[in-house]
Amino acid sequence: MNQGLLSVDEALAQLLGGAKPVAEVEQVPTLAAAGRVLAQAQTSTMDVPPMDNSAMDGYAVRLSDLSSEKKLKITQRIAAGSVGTPLQPGTAARIFTGAPVPPGADAVVMQEHCSVSDDFVLIKKTPKKGEWIRLAASDIRKGGLVLAAGKRLLPQDTGLAASVGIKSLPVYRKLRLGLFFTGDELVMPGDPLSPGRIYNSNRFTLNGLASAFGCEVRDYGIVPDKLDLTRAVLRRAAGENDVIVTSGGVSVGDEDHVKPAVEAEGSLLMWRIAMKPGRPLAFGTIKDSCFIGLPGNPVSSFVTFLIFVRPFLLKTQGQLEVAPRAIDARADFDWPEPDARREFLRVKWNAQGGLDLYPTQDSAVLTSTAWADGLVDNPAGRAIRKGEGVRFLPYSELYR
Ligand code: AMP
Ligand code: MG
Repeated sequence: MNQGLLSVDEALAQLLGGAKPVAEVEQVPTLAAAGRVLAQAQTSTMDVPPMDNSAMDGYAVRLSDLSSEKKLKITQRIAAGSVGTPLQPGTAARIFTGAPVPPGADAVVMQEHCSVSDDFVLIKKTPKKGEWIRLAASDIRKGGLVLAAGKRLLPQDTGLAASVGIKSLPVYRKLRLGLFFTGDELVMPGDPLSPGRIYNSNRFTLNGLASAFGCEVRDYGIVPDKLDLTRAVLRRAAGENDVIVTSGGVSVGDEDHVKPAVEAEGSLLMWRIAMKPGRPLAFGTIKDSCFIGLPGNPVSSFVTFLIFVRPFLLKTQGQLEVAPRAIDARADFDWPEPDARREFLRVKWNAQGGLDLYPTQDSAVLTSTAWADGLVDNPAGRAIRKGEGVRFLPYSELYR
């Protein structure tokens, strides 16, 4: 039944085989580095925290004093940002969160366990050794790895880099991605919708996806179903982008000009993939840019972007981990008539922790993608019975 069709894994392997990571590295301020892919591993030139410090507002004490006397004279006050003096026997230091613990002190008593009168503090609960002291280097050791190369930086990664004093980071340059949308039927929202026309919804979905994966997007808009016009925009886009992604026109109908246009301007592999939604996908090169032609159906272009274009872009950007992490989840639906192709079903978490299925899995019904929380990756021919385990790809993982 799947004769002549390429499997998803075969197509993905070929696609990733053709992904050449960008070589150019640029130094960007750490403050602007979130979302970028780190080009070189970062190590720390310092210990974090750099000194033993208090994890509480309270009193720094010497445990040896507390075996006899519970009342200690307060001889110093150490706020965050200042440094105390060695703590003398029989005394306590008023101390605040983040302030360095004075030499000689071996515990901090939280203020809730103290009562103060005049210059004296009564310790009502004897602390354990080291209590409420954050030890120097307990987070990061000098020379230790802070961030690995090939990681897409999250906000907390930039915070971590800053915590060891790194003010700028080497990242791969942004990928330039060109988009266009083929189809004489397409109009933009805001323009009149004459009979036979539809709105160019793929423009919005694909722009958003490309931006979500950190690309610098150039959008060439709607291209009519004409060979010469398709060739012209391909030529232009190839000169301006690393990757060109298009929607529509990759079937083999008379109005599908993407295939001959790419063949005329560069080289092309046309794939019929054993997946649903999806099936036609084109992969080629034009000059120095890669070309990926997605099907026009809105659900198909969305799903094929996530399954194929996403890992391709991530690898091209220098990211090392590109496979989405799947979750084992429970299907709270029946899927009695599976397709002979691998299916990506639009599903949503329910309050019972299982997955509900969108009732219409038609590749033209875009509502399913907006309603869903992700996709069930269902192997070819597998019927699902309510309560069975399925492989779930949540959007949260597909958007990473
Ligand atoms: P095609 O792949 O060009 O044969 O298009 C398949 C289906 O997707 C047709 O019903 C098209 O009208 C529809 N389609 C193509 N491009 C878009 C688009 N940019 N936005 C919404 N629907 C589209
Ligand atoms: Mg078309």
